[in-house]
Amino acid sequence: MNTEEKVKQYLNAIEKDNKKGKKINAILEINSQALEEAKEIDNGKRNGKLRGKVIVVKSNINVKGMHASCASKTLEDYKATYDATVVEKLRNEGAVIIGMSNMDEFAAGGSGETSAFGATENPNALGLIPGGSSSGSAASVAAGFCDIALGSDTGGSIRNPASHCGVVGLKPSYSSVSRYGLIDLSMSLDQIGPIAKNVKDVALLFDVIRGKDKRDAISQDIKFNLENVNKLPKEVTIGLLDLEGLNVNNDIKELIEIKTRQIAKEKNWKIKKVKLNYLDLAIETYYPLVYVEFFSGTRKFDGRRYGKKIEDSAGREVLRRILGGSEISKAEYQGRYYHLALKAKQIIEQEFKKAFEGKDKVDAIICPTVPRLPHEIGSKISVEEMYSYDVLTVPSSLAGNCAISLPIGKLKTGEGIECPVGMQIICDKFQEEKLFQIANVFEKIEKI
Ligand code: GLN
Repeated sequence: MNTEEKVKQYLNAIEKDNKKGKKINAILEINSQALEEAKEIDNGKRNGKLRGKVIVVKSNINVKGMHASCASKTLEDYKATYDATVVEKLRNEGAVIIGMSNMDEFAAGGSGETSAFGATENPNALGLIPGGSSSGSAASVAAGFCDIALGSDTGGSIRNPASHCGVVGLKPSYSSVSRYGLIDLSMSLDQIGPIAKNVKDVALLFDVIRGKDKRDAISQDIKFNLENVNKLPKEVTIGLLDLEGLNVNNDIKELIEIKTRQIAKEKNWKIKKVKLNYLDLAIETYYPLVYVEFFSGTRKFDGRRYGKKIEDSAGREVLRRILGGSEISKAEYQGRYYHLALKAKQIIEQEFKKAFEGKDKVDAIICPTVPRLPHEIGSKISVEEMYSYDVLTVPSSLAGNCAISLPIGKLKTGEGIECPVGMQIICDKFQEEKLFQIANVFEKIEKI
C-alpha cells in the first residue's frame, strides 16, 4: 500500500470512530495537508528512515500551523508558529503527521479525563479510561488511527496509557531527546517519546528523535545503534521489583511475575528480587517538584502573549497545581520543600544506581506499569488515589532512567470488562539499546 492509500485508510478510521461510532475522542485536529504530504512521499520528494510512517502528535508539542492547545481552554486558539525539534526530525525522515491528539490538560493527569475537550475512550476496553496524560496518543495507536504517536512522559504519561491501551510506549532517558518545542509540565522531568504497536516501531522512532540539539542545552547524544536492537542479549539478569508495602493489584502482580519467570526460564536468564528503598516516597517527592516547576512554567500564560490567562480558563487539576506550586515556592519558605524534594530525588536515583551498577547488579528491573486496572470514565476517585496510579512509573522518571511499557496480557475488572495489562522494563540511563533487546524478547510473551 502506498502512503496516500494508508493515510486515506487512517482518515476513514478517524472519521468513523473518533467523534462518531465508538467516539474514541483521541484526535483533536486533523492535518488538512496530510494527503498532499503523503503524495509527496509517494512521488519520492521526501524520503528517509520513516518513509510513509503516519504519526499522531500530542497537543503539547509544537507542529507548525496546528493547534498546540494542551487540551486546554487557555491555549485553544494557539496555533504553533514553528516545529518542535522532534517534529522537524520526523518530517525530514519522510513521516506524515496526520493529526494532534487529545490529552490530560497540560499533561497534568493520569487518566485522560481532564481534557477541556472531553475524555478519551479506551479503544480496547470501551467505557474505561485509556490512561494519561498521553491518552489520545496511545488511544490513536490502539484504535488504528496511525502507525506511531508521540507523547510526553513526566511521571508516567507515555507508559501509563500505553499499558491501559495495550500498546508499546517508551520513556527515553532524561536528556536523550530534545524538549525544544514541548510545552512543559515539569522541565526537569519531561521527556518526549514514542508509542506504537510494536517495539520495532518504537525503537525506529526513538532513533530518529534522539540526540543533541543546540536549542535544548541539556540534550545530548547517547551511544545507540538501531542495528544492535535486534541482537539477542546475552547473560541477562532480570531484577523483579519487590513490591512489598506498595498498593498493587494482586492479579497484575502475579501475571507479571509468572510471565517474567517463564521467559527467564526459556532464555536461561538469571532472575532475582530487587528491593529499591524509598519507593514509598516517590509520589511525595514527585508532586512538589511538578507543582513548583509547573507554576513557574505557566507564568507566561498571563493572557497577554499566548491564549487566555491560565487562572481564568484552566480546569481544576491545573489550578490545583498552580496554587500548590505558588504556595510551595513562597519566599518565606526559602525553597525548603522544593530542595527537600530534590534531595529525595537524588536518594531514589542512587537506589537505581545501586541496582544497575552495584555488586549485585541487574540488567533490567521489571514491574507492572500501573498498579491497578483502569477505572470507568467519570468514576469519582480521590486526588491521592489518582496520583497513586503513577507509583511505579514516577521512580524511573525521578532517576532519569529509560523505561518501556509492553502489553503482556489481559485481565478482567471488577465489572467484568476485559482490559490490557502492561509490563514495565526499566534500564539504566542511556541503555536504550539493551532495553529494546530485552523488550524484543518479552514482546512475544502475550502469545505464550
Ligand atoms: N500522572 C502524572 C501527573 O499527573 C504524570 C503526568 C505526566 O507524566 N505528564 O503528573
